[in-house]
Amino acid sequence: MNKSDSERIVGILSHFGYEECENPREADLLIVNTCSIRQLSANKAYSQIGVWGKWKKHKPIKIGFCGCVAQQDKKGLLKRFPYLDLVFGTHNIYELPTLIQRVENGEKVCAITDTAYKADETQYHISRKGNLNAWIPIIEGCNNFCTYCIVPYTRGRERSRDFDVIVEEAKRAISEGFKEITLLGQNVDSYGKDLKDEKSTLANLLRELNKIEGKFRIRFVTSYPTDITDDLIDAVDECEKVCEYFHIPMQSGNSEVLKKMNRRYNREQYKAIVEKIRNRFKHVTITSDFIAGFPGETEEQFEDTLSAIKELQLDYSNTAAYSPREKTVAAKWIEKFIPEEIKYERLERLNEVNKQASIASNKKFVGETLEVLVEGVKEKDGKRQITSRAGNNKIVHFESNTAQIGDFVNVKIDAASLWCIKGQEV
Ligand code: SF4
Repeated sequence: MNKSDSERIVGILSHFGYEECENPREADLLIVNTCSIRQLSANKAYSQIGVWGKWKKHKPIKIGFCGCVAQQDKKGLLKRFPYLDLVFGTHNIYELPTLIQRVENGEKVCAITDTAYKADETQYHISRKGNLNAWIPIIEGCNNFCTYCIVPYTRGRERSRDFDVIVEEAKRAISEGFKEITLLGQNVDSYGKDLKDEKSTLANLLRELNKIEGKFRIRFVTSYPTDITDDLIDAVDECEKVCEYFHIPMQSGNSEVLKKMNRRYNREQYKAIVEKIRNRFKHVTITSDFIAGFPGETEEQFEDTLSAIKELQLDYSNTAAYSPREKTVAAKWIEKFIPEEIKYERLERLNEVNKQASIASNKKFVGETLEVLVEGVKEKDGKRQITSRAGNNKIVHFESNTAQIGDFVNVKIDAASLWCIKGQEV
C-alpha cells in the first residue's frame, strides 16, 4: 500500500512540475513515506530525515514526512524535527498540491485528518514503478481492530473505492503495457462491504477485470481468513487471469492466542479455509503471516504455531517478533510481555520451521509445468539467466536465448531450493 501511495504522490507532484531525480542530493523536495507496522520501520524513517536535515545547511531543500507514522505522530513531528517542512497523513495525499504550494511559500504545514480527503483522484497521473506490475488499491483501512495492530488507527475505517473507477484504472494500466495487476487492501476481501451495493464485491471485481482484453494476470492481497467467501473462491477458479495465490495471515496457530489477538477465527476454522482452497486449485500456494511472542503466549501455545505451519503445509510465511504499537490494546498488557530473548529465540525457531516449509513447498512443483512471467534477464558465463514468477508467486529461474522481460513462458520444473525453483523452457 505504501508503494502504491508513493506512486500516487510522485504522480501528483509531476502534475505540478516536479521531476523525480535519481540522486536525493540533487532534490529540492524530499519526502519519506513511512510505515508504522513495527517500531524498526518508524525508526528508519526518523533516521532518514535526520540525514536530510543536515543537508539543509548546504542547500535550501524542503523535507516532507507522510504515511502511517505521520498519521500517528501528527503535529508533534514538526516540533520534534524542526527541519521538517511538511507532514501529511494517509488521508491527505490528494490534498498535496495545495500543501506543496503553502510549503513553497515558506509555511510549515501539518495536514492530518481522520477522514479521507475528498478529491477527484482520477485527475492525477500515477507514476508507476517498472512496467510489469501495477498496484491498484481497492479498499483502504480496516475495521477489525486486532489487538496488536496499528492499521485501524493510521489508515482509518474501511473505505472501498468505486467499482468502475477501479476497472478504468486497471484498463489504463493494461493499455500502458502492464502485465500484472495487484489489487490492494489491508483487508482486500472486505471490498465493497461499506458500499452496500450488490455489484461491489471482490469476486465481481475479479470477474469484471478478467474480461479486459490482453494477456495479463490479476492478484489480490491481503485476505482476512473469514472474509474469503465461496463466491470469491469460485471467481478465482472461473477467471483464467486470476492467479492461484492466496496470502492469508494466520498470526498464531493457537486458538486462545487468536482470541486474545481479536482474530475472528480459531485454528480449526482457518484450517477449513486452507483445505477448501487446496482442494480446488492444482498449483495454488497459500502464504501466511505469524507473530512470535505475543503478550502472554506460552511455550505450548507457540509450539501450536510451529505445528500449524507443518500441518497446513503453508508455502511460506512472513514472520515477526511482537512489537508493541502505541494505542493498541495489546501494548497495554506490559506485565504479560514476553522477555526479548525468549521472543527472539521463538522467532528463530519459527523461521527455521518456515524455511523447511518453503523447501517442501518448492519441491512439490518438481516435474510440474508452470507458466511464468519473465521479470529479469542476466548474462552470466555466456548464458542468459532468466528470473521469473509463476502465477502462484513462486520465483522460477531458467536459461533462455530468447525470453524477454514481460514475456509469458512455460517452464518445466526440475529442481527446488529454499528461495526458488529451477526449470527448462518448454
Ligand atoms: S485485519 Fe490486518 S490490518 Fe486489520 S487490524 Fe487486523 S492485522 Fe491490522
